[in-house]
Amino acid sequence: MRVLDTAALLHWPVSELAGNICSQSQQAELERVSPQRWMLIQAIDIDWRAPDSVWLAEAKRCAAQSGDLPRLSDVDLDILALALGLNIELVTDDYRLQNTMKSSGKQSTSVDTSGTKQVWTWIRRCTGCRHTTEVPADVARSKKGNVGECDRCGAALVLKKKR
Ligand SMILES: [Zn+2]
Repeated sequence: MRVLDTAALLHWPVSELAGNICSQSQQAELERVSPQRWMLIQAIDIDWRAPDSVWLAEAKRCAAQSGDLPRLSDVDLDILALALGLNIELVTDDYRLQNTMKSSGKQSTSVDTSGTKQVWTWIRRCTGCRHTTEVPADVARSKKGNVGECDRCGAALVLKKKR
């Protein structure tokens, strides 16, 4: 029993999917990406769950610690919360989710690649004064763009790998 990301739902043989756990928020995502696949998947015995708020808070805490949080979507956080909360393996090709799992000492496997070997930490660096700060658990999330403003000089903060 593992938590599957949407890439696994799309690309794994249907026979491999049954008995695994997915987030309810993946249903809309899957339906949008591939309506045909969604039709097939609905006939399979998948355990659709919604993570509770305690698990979501833990997922945010772990993703803030590795610095991946600003780039995670709501669906990403849901499946991360399920894997961490249930303490089971996460199947994902998303390198940010893999990195968060690894940095939390947890297992993840990739859908069809060999996966990341290294673990790294992201920090926020000011584009003005170059001051660096850790990623807070209440950071705004989006797939790209700035990740806040510097509280020293007001310039934009960007994500950088911590050296
Ligand atoms: Zn600054």
